[in-house]
Amino acid sequence: MSKIKILPDTLISQIAAGEVIDRPASAVKELLENSLDAGASFCSIEIEQGGAQLIAVRDNGCGMDASDAVAAFARHATSKIAQFSDLEKIESYGFRGEALAAIASVSLVCLKTRRDKDDAGTEVVFSAGKLQSQNSAGCPPGTEIVVRNLFFSTPARKKFLKSPNTEFAHIVAISSHLALANPAVGFELKHNGKTIFHCALGQTPEARLCEILGGDFLSRSIPVSFATPSIHIHGFIGEPGMPRSSKRHQYLFINGRDVSDPLVARAITDAYGSRLPPRTWPAFVVNVDMDPREVDINVHPRKLTVKFLDSGRIYKDIFQAASQALEKFEKKIFASASTAQNAQNDGTQYDAQNLSQAALKFPQPEQEKRPDGLVAEPFSELQIIAQVADSYILIRTEEGLAIVDQHAAHERILYEKFRSAATESRPQTQPLLVPLALDCSREEAIFLQDAVRHLQAFGFEFDQWSGNTFVIRGCPLAMKTENLSKIFRDFLNDMMSEKINKEILPERILKSLACKTAVKFGMKLSLPEQQKLMRDLGNTPNGATCPHGRPTKVIVTFEELERRFYRRK
Ligand code: ADP
Ligand code: MG
Repeated sequence: MSKIKILPDTLISQIAAGEVIDRPASAVKELLENSLDAGASFCSIEIEQGGAQLIAVRDNGCGMDASDAVAAFARHATSKIAQFSDLEKIESYGFRGEALAAIASVSLVCLKTRRDKDDAGTEVVFSAGKLQSQNSAGCPPGTEIVVRNLFFSTPARKKFLKSPNTEFAHIVAISSHLALANPAVGFELKHNGKTIFHCALGQTPEARLCEILGGDFLSRSIPVSFATPSIHIHGFIGEPGMPRSSKRHQYLFINGRDVSDPLVARAITDAYGSRLPPRTWPAFVVNVDMDPREVDINVHPRKLTVKFLDSGRIYKDIFQAASQALEKFEKKIFASASTAQNAQNDGTQYDAQNLSQAALKFPQPEQEKRPDGLVAEPFSELQIIAQVADSYILIRTEEGLAIVDQHAAHERILYEKFRSAATESRPQTQPLLVPLALDCSREEAIFLQDAVRHLQAFGFEFDQWSGNTFVIRGCPLAMKTENLSKIFRDFLNDMMSEKINKEILPERILKSLACKTAVKFGMKLSLPEQQKLMRDLGNTPNGATCPHGRPTKVIVTFEELERRFYRRK
């Protein structure tokens, strides 16, 4: 007797359901994607007991006629593709025709649907993959799918369900992702009768971001906008100095599809470079719109990952998009030399009621033209209020107050100066009037022998007299010669305090040298020194963080002040 049997369709669907529908949240995702594919402008999601008991998704999309309402539940039934070549340019979420069949095979499903042009709608009921009834029914245009008792026909899978709260958390995550990807579509999510979120239709991307991720996320984000003829990258990335300890706050949409792609995430993370402390990740909500033929979305049954035709180019574009956004942000923060003083000295009379409004909207400063036609450096007019605790520099900016950590700021300036010196074929050096002799320990001398060529690249000049005595004859232009002996000692101590791999030695030297050379916390600075520091910071790439990834400044906006004084909610 032959042993091989062809499996019945329902069983095949139940097996497939394991891949497509592994928990209530994946059913929600498939149903919402169908609603979006149907052109809905509003979707409501109702959940009971984490989705195991009930999932209801209602939309105002195109609806189906009576025969499609049944056909939709057949395996591989789809209206979205007809031939293989369609796959290359797919613009809908669905195309595999698996979801409804899979959901229906493991639950009790009731579908009600009506096309706008039809007088009556259709109601069909499936239980464990079998059609139970089909009737005409009165219902509004659009589609409602109610899924009860998920996995009742596959108890083995049901056992894997976590607590209702955990399952519901996954549903919130999936719905939020889709709501973020489709800001113009309205969404409502209810759990056990309680509204969890309600997003109006027709929202701007900013408003939707605020709604889903909160105002704090938005106010600490930088807009990204980058376009070439073949790609459009837009969205928001977190400000440097606001790193996250997990990748949970990374949202990526490729042609509106919610995916997680390690290449894109890495390109964004790499763009932060030394602005990001180790083992932290940036938050982002990034949309990539590109020719669908350049990206294969059919590489995962739940379409969670994608494959790019030219991944090298994608990496480059994303990296550039994020880098440009970060640079623009850093320029803006420090270029906003406030004209608060001018605003109040120009004879304009403000009445008391208007004063706080006026303070919020300082006029843009007219940028001064220099005789050579260039615009005056923004920092020449910087409004430094004070140096506080010999450590922080307090600045008035257009949006509020900036508090700069003088050490962190100087560290970044020096780091970038040393780094750029190292890229020159002959870095500039300032010769020492009196060469400085350094007596080193055996260990330090061995280290210096390795490190000398890196130090020379930054502008140091050395002689090794004998054994453990080194003589410094010149140092980088950015250093002050008077403290050189102490700086160099501190630097050596730092380098000796850990074992450093050869690969990262130049970077460690750079960081340590910048740190030891920089003005200290608790050091009094004259006003011109403060001004020079701020001017240099404004002209320094990556100026928002120190080389260890800590922020160089904290901004307190007028808006935040108003909130803290309870002037606004
Ligand atoms: P796919 O989305 O991959 O085509 P599904 O099993 O999810 O497969 O859906 C099968 C078909 O049912 C869809 O192609 C679509 O024609 C129809 N359909 C499903 N949900 C809806 C809906 N909410 N509104 C209108 N049509 C729908
Ligand atoms: Mg679908």
